[in-house]
Amino acid sequence: MEERLEYRIFTYSAYLMNKFGKKVFRVGLSTGNTCPHRIENGGCIFCNPSTFTGEYQSQDLSIEEQFNNAVPRIKKACGDVKLLAYFQDETSTYGDIEFLKQKYDEALSHPEVIGLVVSTRPDYIDKKVLKLVASYIVPVTVEIGLQSIHNKSLELLNRGHTFEQAEEAIKMCDEAGLTVSVHLIMGIPNETYDDMLQTLKWVTSNKFIKQVKFHNLVVYKNTKLAQMKNIPVYTIEEHIKNLCNLIPHLRGDIAVSRLFTSNIRRTQIAVDKYKGNKTQWMNELRKYLYKNNLNQGDKTDVKYDFRKYYK
Ligand code: SF4
Repeated sequence: MEERLEYRIFTYSAYLMNKFGKKVFRVGLSTGNTCPHRIENGGCIFCNPSTFTGEYQSQDLSIEEQFNNAVPRIKKACGDVKLLAYFQDETSTYGDIEFLKQKYDEALSHPEVIGLVVSTRPDYIDKKVLKLVASYIVPVTVEIGLQSIHNKSLELLNRGHTFEQAEEAIKMCDEAGLTVSVHLIMGIPNETYDDMLQTLKWVTSNKFIKQVKFHNLVVYKNTKLAQMKNIPVYTIEEHIKNLCNLIPHLRGDIAVSRLFTSNIRRTQIAVDKYKGNKTQWMNELRKYLYKNNLNQGDKTDVKYDFRKYYK
């Protein structure tokens, strides 16, 4: 049988195809607001805002202009796909509730949008914003920056929230009927493999979490992280090895929407441990999984069975 990543890992594209029954693409959008944590508390030590503006969104453009930029390019590259409005950058639930409503409403009024995804911090999830996003008739996912379950790591990263706050935010989203996705950073300084494993096991044990996004820690110039001495950063090979060994501990019904930090801005990297490109990394990861016979969910009660998703 052909060696495909999708046979070992429950990929986000398989998740979307099953949920919507058609090919779906996320259009990155910006509300135009920045991150309150950076303004008020100096931000996370790894954050360099000039590196995470996605391919299509722009803080300076209206929602309509962002769609006009993105949609023709998406259609050219992916064909006739439906769209998810993906408020991706900064803290997408930060702002006056009427302002947010106007942005989300405008995005959802696009004729080809069939769902909403909002990315945010645990401490910017409250009843008002949940009531707003839960009021939409389309499926809504809230992406929450959990990063780690270890408060010592969250402190080191200057995340400005605790694990307990993230846990509560995840629960609130689920209670509001929303799909929950969490971001995790692999390779936080001073975290061991066992620390990462504990985080993953906690994610597996949390019944509210339906998607996960893995990031490898990238040290960008002009960040507090880059100023630290002797930062232990995993190479891409070490990241792949760690991830592949962690994957069997991830529940088989949690969709993996990312395996590597996306769109790494090479010119802005302070400590470059990433030879090659994403296609090569995915290939290496797939080969490692097959060579070592590793499958998502194998070490949990919920195995991943690709036959359920590929009929
Ligand atoms: S919460 Fe996100 S946008 Fe805000 S400082 Fe941290 S990484 Fe940057």
